[in-house]
Amino acid sequence: MIQLYVPLNFLGVLYREIKQSLADMERLFALLDQHREVADQPDALPLQPHGGEVRFSHVDFSYEKNRQILFDVDFTIAAGSTTAVVGHSGSGKSTLSRLLFRFYDVDAGSISIDGRDLRQVTQSTLRSAIGIVPQDTVLFNDTIEYNIAYGRPGASREEMIAAARAASIHDFIESLPAGYQTMVGERGLKLSGGEKQRVAIARALLKDPAILIFDEATSALDSRAEQAIQAELKAIARTRTTLVIAHRLSTIADAAQILVMDHGRIVERGTHAQLLAANGAYAQMWERQQARPDEALASPRSDASE
Ligand code: ATP
Repeated sequence: MIQLYVPLNFLGVLYREIKQSLADMERLFALLDQHREVADQPDALPLQPHGGEVRFSHVDFSYEKNRQILFDVDFTIAAGSTTAVVGHSGSGKSTLSRLLFRFYDVDAGSISIDGRDLRQVTQSTLRSAIGIVPQDTVLFNDTIEYNIAYGRPGASREEMIAAARAASIHDFIESLPAGYQTMVGERGLKLSGGEKQRVAIARALLKDPAILIFDEATSALDSRAEQAIQAELKAIARTRTTLVIAHRLSTIADAAQILVMDHGRIVERGTHAQLLAANGAYAQMWERQQARPDEALASPRSDASE
């Protein structure tokens, strides 16, 4: 509907901005269905994930000509397992998730889910197979119920509440005078960073995707809130293929695989213990974070005062 009223160039700007943030991609696609940079092939098939193995095979990628961002990125996330990606700001971590969502097509190599190339499947089924808990959850100016139910339109109220319970936000919602009908978002009740992340987790739980992307917030929640969120995420990651874009190494020490990115390349990979033993870039980051536990990896290495 909105396309009828808003000039296309404005939509272009909106599209790029929201795409960049990864925050609100599902709604964006619903609004801008005709405005994608990639199109379904005429013979595209529905993706029916069984397990959800994710494979990046020798991927090269650039957003713009003459500025390559990813170089020969090659890894597999075994079905149901967790892979974490770490690396300094701009190293290409979020680009991996944008490509997995197929916002863009790769320049070389391929990306597949359960052996099926993303270019051969319909985007609608690809998107429903992947859930995201973004860095900064954007809440719609609507009720909490709407904001959670958005994860799966058509879900029953019971399912929505079950998701809120599993994300440990049900009791908080019930404590509000208007409960699930409380208006949130810019013009409603402001939720804390942790509460917003729980809404995002509830949304993702309701969607029940085979693949989950967790884009960790760069700004640390207080450590109790952080630990609680981590516990919830672990629980939902247990049964799905999970890609964590991590900014604090303490949260990913038990990932099955950790990829260390630098300038668009995977420069190290292994488990936490293997990477510490290798005594390379990861071990250095780990030491630095042990000394300054609140500093997110991706924050620009700054002279900001403590
Ligand atoms: P951060 O930890 O800060 O989120 P990141 O490792 O996730 O960083 P990416 O967002 O993947 O980094 O960006 C990798 C590189 O791609 C950066 O140099 C960035 O400037 C560039 N880039 C990202 N998006 C675009 C875009 N839409 N157009 C052109 N270049 C882009």
